[in-house]
Amino acid sequence: MIQEFKVESSRREELIDITDQVQRAVQGLKGKDGACIVFTPHTTAAITVNENADPDVVRDILYGFGKMVPETGYHHREGNSPAHIKSSLVGCSEQILVANGKLVLGTWQGIYFCEFDGPRQRSVLVKMI
Ligand code: ZN
Repeated sequence: MIQEFKVESSRREELIDITDQVQRAVQGLKGKDGACIVFTPHTTAAITVNENADPDVVRDILYGFGKMVPETGYHHREGNSPAHIKSSLVGCSEQILVANGKLVLGTWQGIYFCEFDGPRQRSVLVKMI
């Protein structure tokens, strides 16, 4: 069984904290112990785990990706190659441990949906393993 939820991005690039939605999906799957896979079926988005305390961290992550990935010089006609590259650098899924029905995360960790070609509506899938 797979749980799906939607994410609405409002900017071209944005990291959106989806920790609560993933926790609800795990509850919906009646997941008790094991791990969950959090997957996004898009080629210009990604999933990552990082700090959710200081909002400057996610801003700096986007700034750093912007420094690493040039904006121009590509062949892909859609014009969104930087978004495809960032999606592959970050990856489209994460595995999160689940214990007693709760996500196992560090004090400062949150699960983020990474939008690299928004704004648009996206899907996130969660499955217990
Ligand atoms: Zn494209």
